[in-house]
Amino acid sequence: MFADLHLHTNFSDGTFSPEELAARANTAGLGAIALTDHDTVDGCERMAAACAKEGIEFIVGCEFTVEQGGRELHLLGYCFDLENVALRAALRKYQEVRRNRVHEIVLRLNGLGIPMQVERVMEIANCDAPGRPHVGRALVADGHCRSLDEAFQRFLKKGKPAWAPKAKLSSAEALGLIHEAGGVAAMAHPGINHMDEVIPDLVSAGMDGLECFYTRHSTAMTEHYLMMAERHGLLVTGGSDCHGENKGRPLLGGVKLPYEFVEKLKAAATRVAV
Ligand code: AMP
Ligand code: ZN
Ligand code: FE
Ligand code: FE
Repeated sequence: MFADLHLHTNFSDGTFSPEELAARANTAGLGAIALTDHDTVDGCERMAAACAKEGIEFIVGCEFTVEQGGRELHLLGYCFDLENVALRAALRKYQEVRRNRVHEIVLRLNGLGIPMQVERVMEIANCDAPGRPHVGRALVADGHCRSLDEAFQRFLKKGKPAWAPKAKLSSAEALGLIHEAGGVAAMAHPGINHMDEVIPDLVSAGMDGLECFYTRHSTAMTEHYLMMAERHGLLVTGGSDCHGENKGRPLLGGVKLPYEFVEKLKAAATRVAV
């Protein structure tokens, strides 16, 4: 049996609904999936029901945007208590940060002569955790850019004129919230971050795992992170980071994590649960 522990729905910047994602995961031959929307768990309830209907296992998750040493990284939280009050409050706060950031990005676009409105982006986002991809989709939908990629390259990437910073949880705060809620945390897509030097600090701060298997990891990268996980005694996770259709071919099914790693993850979460 295989799992994909890194997936997004339209509760953040993915395009599939939970029901569509569960059905596609089943078709792709996955036996277990985690939902890891950005800074929200709002899709988890529907995802759990949809997975039950498809006969596949659902694992609670969230991709937290955090900062470590002044740089952004993503921490994947798993198997935590969805009802944990402190965790839910922190997510609400950072969803507000995301909404405010959309205002700032739109203001910058307006300053560049692009007549975009916040309401338009929010209509397209249709969720509480809007992000740059939603602004990009609005730019494409309204004919200001030909593709999402162009929107990022011209406006939205860090260093481009409509980019705006966003306040983030510190990695220590996020690890504390995830652990207090009985979960475990893994660094997402380490091979894309080029921040290996912070991994020992994160391990010291209690980080539990490393996303060794990932769509854009080469075989050499996967090997490198598997060795690092072994060296630091970390759990091994993996996922596709599917956000929906990707030029007609969803990433879903491209990463198949052997289920033994999921068992270890769940066992570790049970151990820390109070
Ligand atoms: P945000 O969380 O608002 O900062 O947006 C980050 C998200 O934008 C990432 O999770 C990716 O899904 C997406 N993203 C980042 N770079 C690009 C790009 N060049 N083209 C399309 N999507 C991107
Ligand atoms: Zn995303
Ligand atoms: Fe990410
Ligand atoms: Fe992701």
